[in-house]
Amino acid sequence: MGSDIRFADLTTLRVGGPIGRLVTATTQRDLVDLAREAWSADDPWLALGGGSNLLVGDEGFEGTVIRIATKGIEVLPAATDEASVRLRVQAGETWDDLVAWTVEHGYSGIEALSGIPGSVGAAPVQNIGAYGQELETTLVAIEFLDEGADTPRRMSADELELGYRTSVLKQGMRGIVVSVELDLHDTAPERAVLGEALGRPIGYGQLADALHVQQGDRVPIARVRESVLALRTAKGMVLDPADPDSVSAGSFFTNPIVGEHVARTLPSAAPRWYVEPEAPDEVTPLATLASATPLDAFLEHQASLETSVIEPVVADTEPLVKLSAAWLIEQSGIRRGFGLPGSRAAISSKHTLALTNRGDAGADEVVQLARFVQQRVQAEFGIVLQPEPVLVGVEL
Ligand SMILES: Cc1cc2nc3c(=O)[nH]c(=O)nc-3n(C[C@H](O)[C@H](O)[C@H](O)COP(=O)(O)OP(=O)(O)OC[C@H]3O[C@@H](n4cnc5c(N)ncnc54)[C@H](O)[C@@H]3O)c2cc1C
Repeated sequence: MGSDIRFADLTTLRVGGPIGRLVTATTQRDLVDLAREAWSADDPWLALGGGSNLLVGDEGFEGTVIRIATKGIEVLPAATDEASVRLRVQAGETWDDLVAWTVEHGYSGIEALSGIPGSVGAAPVQNIGAYGQELETTLVAIEFLDEGADTPRRMSADELELGYRTSVLKQGMRGIVVSVELDLHDTAPERAVLGEALGRPIGYGQLADALHVQQGDRVPIARVRESVLALRTAKGMVLDPADPDSVSAGSFFTNPIVGEHVARTLPSAAPRWYVEPEAPDEVTPLATLASATPLDAFLEHQASLETSVIEPVVADTEPLVKLSAAWLIEQSGIRRGFGLPGSRAAISSKHTLALTNRGDAGADEVVQLARFVQQRVQAEFGIVLQPEPVLVGVEL
C-alpha cells in the first residue's frame, strides 16, 4: 500500500492496518476537489473525521481516505426569532470545541453533548446523543456532496431520517457532509432579565442527580457542561491520553430495541424505556408489565431462544422498548476489565459497554472480544447486540 500511515494512528481504538492513500482537506474547495479526484479514480474511498467511531481491520484499506479538517463557525442571519441563533459549522471542526464555543457564547441546545469525541461532520452520521440530548433536536440541515457530484446540495434534517444512533448516512448513503446547520437557543434576552444563561430542561436522571436538580429543571449551561464532562470522565468516555479506558470507540454496542413482549421476558431488574408510542422518562419496572404478561408469551419466547435470534421489531403495532446493553452484558457474566486469555483487548474497567485496546491490540483481538460478548448475551437472553461503530474490513 502507498502510505506509511495506519488506521491505528488515526483512530481512537488505535487499531487498523495501512491506508492506501491519505489526503487531507483543510478548505471546502479542497474537500470537493479531493473527493472528486478520488471518485474519478473509481477506487474505494472513505471519509475520516476524528476516527472515534471506526473499527478498521488489520488488513487496512486499499483506497483513498479523505481526512476532513475544514474549519469555521458562522452565525447565520436566518434565525427564526430573537431567542434563537442559527450556526453553520464546517465538517472538520472538533465537535467538543463547537460545544465549548456555544457555551461560551450563551447558546444552548448541545451542552449535554459535551465531551463526545470526533468531528462536526460525523455528528449527523449516527445522530450523536448523550445525557438526554441528541443532535436531531438542533440540526436544521447539512451541506452534502453526493458521491459523484460536483457541488454540495442542502439536505434538510428530515431527509436524513435521523434515529437512535442512525441516519441514511450510516445506512449506506454515500457522500460527504461538508457542513452542518444548527438552530440553538440564544440565552441573551433571558440572561438580560435573569442574569444567567440557562440551558434546555435537563432530560436525563443521572445528570439531574449530579446537578442536584429534578429532571425538567433548567440549569446554567456552563454547569451542565462541567457536570457532563465529570460524569463522562468517571466512565472513561472523554478522550484522555492518561486514561487507558478511553482507548476505545465509546459505546461498542447500541441499546437493543425490542418488542414489548420480548422485554417482558427479562428479569424485573432489567432497565427498559418505552420508545414508542411515547417514551416515558422513567424506567418502567417489569412488575408493571408482568401483570399483563400472558404465561404463553413467556413460554413461547423461551422456546424461541433455543432455535432463533429475537427480531428487534416484532409487529408494527407493538410498543417498542429500549433495553440497556450494559445491563445485558453484565448479567451475562461479563464484568468490567474482562479480557479473553492472552488478548490485549478488554472491556473498560469503568464501563461495560466500551471495548478498549490495552496496548497494541490488533483489530482481530477487538473483534474476538466483541463476538464473545455478543455470544454470551445471545446465549443468556436471545438478543444479538449490534455494534455502534462503523466497521471497515471486519465483520462481527
Ligand atoms: C470515548 C468515546 C466516547 C464516545 N461517546 C459518544 C456518545 O456519548 N454519543 C455518541 O453518539 N457517540 C459517542 N462516541 C462515538 C463518536 O465519538 C461519534 O460517533 C462521533 O460523531 C464520531 O466522529 P468522528 O469524526 O470521529 O467520526 P469517524 O470515526 O472519523 O467516522 C465515523 C463514520 O462517519 C463517517 N464520516 C466522518 N466524517 C464524515 C463526513 N464529514 N461526511 C460523511 N461521512 C463522514 C466515516 O466515514 C465513518 O463511517 C464516542 C467515542 C469515543 C471514543
